[in-house]
Amino acid sequence: MTVIQLKLPKPSSKRIALHLTAPAERALKQGHPWVFDQSITEQSREGNPGDLAVIFDDKRRFLAVGLYDPTSTIRVRILQKIKPATIDVNWFTEKIKTAADIRAPLNQHETNGYRLIHGENDGLPGMVIDRYAETLVLKLYTPAWIPHLNDIFSALAKKQPFTHLILRLSRSLTKQTKHLHGLTDGMTLTPQTPEGLILFKENGITFECDPINGQKTGFFLDQRENRVRVRNVSKNKSVLNVFSYTGGFSLYAADGGATEVTSVDFSTPATQATLRNIQHNQHRANIRSATFETLDQDAFEALAQMKSVGKKFDIVILDPPMFAQNQSQIETALNAYRRLTLLGLGVLKRGGILVQASCSSRVSADDFFNTIHKAAQEAGRPLKEIERTGHALDHPTSYKEGAYLKCLFAVAP
Ligand code: SAH
Repeated sequence: MTVIQLKLPKPSSKRIALHLTAPAERALKQGHPWVFDQSITEQSREGNPGDLAVIFDDKRRFLAVGLYDPTSTIRVRILQKIKPATIDVNWFTEKIKTAADIRAPLNQHETNGYRLIHGENDGLPGMVIDRYAETLVLKLYTPAWIPHLNDIFSALAKKQPFTHLILRLSRSLTKQTKHLHGLTDGMTLTPQTPEGLILFKENGITFECDPINGQKTGFFLDQRENRVRVRNVSKNKSVLNVFSYTGGFSLYAADGGATEVTSVDFSTPATQATLRNIQHNQHRANIRSATFETLDQDAFEALAQMKSVGKKFDIVILDPPMFAQNQSQIETALNAYRRLTLLGLGVLKRGGILVQASCSSRVSADDFFNTIHKAAQEAGRPLKEIERTGHALDHPTSYKEGAYLKCLFAVAP
């Protein structure tokens, strides 16, 4: 559980004092976890990534303290509001303990892969920590964490024992070599690199994950509860899992008794991992007896092709990547969701179940669900909703943009 010695900068002992515009102050009081560069009206000095910035109101009363990041328009990420605090190992330990307590209801014999720290929503903005059995994967989205990493490692060692600790860096962070102090994406921070892929369990099903090269931290942990919902309705069904990545929904469908499961993803490493995940679960009778097919293909093309040959399924799952990175892409994203609904319905039997998800935080839940309904009406198959779902307990949300995941379960006539 020892972490390798890293030569990292120490956080400055001098804090930066800030004043904000009135709207930014209001947003902060309402719980928004970021301060943008343009909302700063006064600043006592320039700072380095990771310096602590203290925000005061116009009467010089303490409002909040956060991590300063001169490299981003998100200039400060808030750590603590209302009451001043010393940001140190003890403070981080307390945050990690609170987060772990929230996840306590997960049955860790059945599920030892889950998100331990969900960034802003767990009070550690710009940082994600996922657990895959004995391996922790720490993903950073800002260089501001780097001077605090040794404190984070000590806090983790106290509260969350691990064998391996892997570091992942967001795409924008990997470009900031000047601020990385030798840290690289995918490096192992414990003395030994894990041998091979990591196996972990989700609701009793074994999955492998590649936290060093995989997408995100290696697995899409946020869909766990939606996968259970799929498992619950899959008995004797044929299931199409589109944007299947490593086969999360596919394995659950088979485990629930689906007879035939088709997985589509244009990433060959992902479909290959799906095939290995099927092998990891041959001790589960339903998975052993299901028939699987994986297609390395563009999802839109695959759906159109299947429709053209009259292929139909009892359940169609559509879980695409994020379609809208910013405000200007919302319309395009909604249009892509609409096309997917139409294509999905094209291969869904009458009375079948459509499962459609969105992980674009920019797209509101209302716009997303309305788009699906309108498309279904357009196709002459108005949907009957079973359920609208959101976040699982290990992906809590504490502010509006934190609620990114939405999923519709509906029956199509
Ligand atoms: N449902 C998955 C997660 C999906 S992530 C799970 O439960 O784990 C989105 C996936 O879509 C990624 O694996 C990516 O490779 C794939 N993808 C993105 N665009 C695609 C496209 N146009 N056609 C097929 N797959 C695509």
